[in-house]
Amino acid sequence: LSVWSAVPAGPPDPILGVTEAFKADKDPRKINLGVGAYRDENGKPYVLNAVKKAEEILVQQNPDKEYLPITGLPEFTASAAKLAYSADSAPLKEGRVAVTQSISGTGALRIGGAFLGRFYPHVKTIYLPVPSWGNHTPVFRDSGLEVKGYRYFDKKTVGLDFEGLKEDLKAAPEKSIVLLHACAHNPTGVDPTPEQWKEISDIVKEKQLFPFFDMAYQGFASGDTARDAFAVRYFVEQGHQIALAQSFAKNMGLYGERVGAFSLVTSSPEERARVDSQLKIVIRPMYSNPPLHGARIASTILRDEQLYRLWEGEVKHMANRIIQMRDRLYDNLVGQNTPGEWSHIKKQIGMFSFTGLTQPQTKVLAEKAHIYMTADGRISMAGLNGNNIDYFAESVSKAVK
Ligand code: PMP
Repeated sequence: LSVWSAVPAGPPDPILGVTEAFKADKDPRKINLGVGAYRDENGKPYVLNAVKKAEEILVQQNPDKEYLPITGLPEFTASAAKLAYSADSAPLKEGRVAVTQSISGTGALRIGGAFLGRFYPHVKTIYLPVPSWGNHTPVFRDSGLEVKGYRYFDKKTVGLDFEGLKEDLKAAPEKSIVLLHACAHNPTGVDPTPEQWKEISDIVKEKQLFPFFDMAYQGFASGDTARDAFAVRYFVEQGHQIALAQSFAKNMGLYGERVGAFSLVTSSPEERARVDSQLKIVIRPMYSNPPLHGARIASTILRDEQLYRLWEGEVKHMANRIIQMRDRLYDNLVGQNTPGEWSHIKKQIGMFSFTGLTQPQTKVLAEKAHIYMTADGRISMAGLNGNNIDYFAESVSKAVK
């Protein structure tokens, strides 16, 4: 009998499963709107010119391949923190933000989860928006936190359930941890307005909740890195000691390079040093130290004025292309008298749109039209382009009628 004979087969990953089905489909009209990775005007993966230029610079510098420190490349973590918090952020200037490089956004969330699991002195329950990115629950559960939910999405309005959100945060036990998507909420594409963020900040203060921001799309949502960091910066200005997970997968297109950062705002440089020392102790047995190449690329872009400007333009271009696709999809659906209200397609922001398509409709779209999306009706807007959007809209219209 094999040692592993009792290992049960686990369910396939719901998002990667969509890609499998897409690959197996031989129809030339097929469209994959499952995975959240940017595609250009021709539906192809896109390597940013800023990234290519940074790599050329790096080749010329011919750097060695020695290990990085446990918390990563210092120039990278300093620049990443500056990008998120802004150069004139008080805690940054005062040297009280603990930052570490991470294995992209997922790794940042995991380091944060593990650190909170070990050191957070209050209820170790984290409240996630319902729905949230599918990996949040297992990441925090495997980090040893209890995972609960707060209302976020209103199916009826296909928008934010702000009353439900406020009620649930007010009803949570004091000092609970609350996960907030900084911008471009995944999977819904629905973000609070600045005014609503202010109210959320007030509730977090009143209830002494601990805000953990997941910022996987800075710049990618609106095209403007400062605008997308509004919530993070506002909370910090309000005196919240936040935790922050950053990813450079989307905004620099560095998906597989796994570039990210995790940071915690502390109350003093002395406290930061203690927190830093414990972050190292959390990280060391997980993966010892992070990968070099992606951090060097990101750091080169963030620290070179010309490359930074080139990058800003490219982030804007990606965000704008997605926003244009939203407009075109809306016009197309309405133009074909598709039953239902579709203005949410234009109101939502970021990589994804929660279309409101039902599970049976998504099934029909896959089987009849060779169009693949997750069963919750989420589409990756980046998968749409001038060549496939008419066919997509026509197929959706048929599926709904
Ligand atoms: N958080 C959210 C909300 C995301 O959408 C993603 C990417 N899909 C991540 C975190 C992490 O992605 P990565 O590990 O590739 O940076």
